[in-house]
Amino acid sequence: MNTRSLALAMPLVVLCAAPAAAQGDFSAVEIKAEKVADGIYMLTGSGGNLGLSVGEDGAYLIDDQYAPLTGKILAAVKELTPEPVRFVINTHYHGDHTGGNENMGEAGALLVAHENVRARMAAGTFMKAFNRQVEPAPAGALPVVTFTDAVTFHWNGEELRVFFVGPAHTDGDVIIHFVKADVFHMGDTLFNGLYPFIDVSAGGRIDGMIAAVDRVLKVADEKTRFIAGHGPVAAKADLQAYRDMLAQVRDRVVKLKAEGKTGEEIVAAKPTAEFDEKWGGGFMKPDAWVGLVYESMR
Ligand SMILES: [Zn+2]
Repeated sequence: MNTRSLALAMPLVVLCAAPAAAQGDFSAVEIKAEKVADGIYMLTGSGGNLGLSVGEDGAYLIDDQYAPLTGKILAAVKELTPEPVRFVINTHYHGDHTGGNENMGEAGALLVAHENVRARMAAGTFMKAFNRQVEPAPAGALPVVTFTDAVTFHWNGEELRVFFVGPAHTDGDVIIHFVKADVFHMGDTLFNGLYPFIDVSAGGRIDGMIAAVDRVLKVADEKTRFIAGHGPVAAKADLQAYRDMLAQVRDRVVKLKAEGKTGEEIVAAKPTAEFDEKWGGGFMKPDAWVGLVYESMR
């Protein structure tokens, strides 16, 4: 089995946290809020973790999971603030982070994202890892405001610095820093406690994943908190452990490649063995993860 067919064999549930959601049934999904700092929450349901800022200016959402969950997400926001959702920023184009865009736009939110996110959503894209064509998004789901490098929101007494770190998980990744609260929303550059997915056919690169994490580690300290795209809220030690795992796997794959091994032989060499117990219990299984690392550096 070559790395390509390995990648193709990966389960489709990778973008969905719950098996029920993989079949399009969201009726059992509950949206839960976890306070991360004053006025800042992580919301979980099915798909990528949401970030939420509440305060007198209005609600500000980071990502919006799947379209059928919009009503439940808005109800969860309403439990925390009487103010409407004024902005939604997408951390990248994946459907478990942008699926609610059209509904949120109709509800009055301004949709914001990196220009590569809008371009991929508008044109549609082929996800080679799942052999799946993502169809073009409807016009109402497209980000209205796009940017290239960085944008800052002065909102709810906070300074929300949004900065581009792609290509990493995709070619459109951004990280959001709540400067005063010292909280980051990492998008899918961080899978806390799980091997991450790298969307190689959308420009994702292992080196970019590591660089994105390094950029944040440099300015973080023990009090900093990180909302992951998937997995629980992280502290700096968690992020450092994740970074070390990424770098060691990358280095081993580089070494095996330099020895002339094929992708198939590299996967068979099990370069992640010592990490699998801690990181391999999620939707990215070890062999598939190694295959993506290898493909992303070709
Ligand atoms: Zn993603």
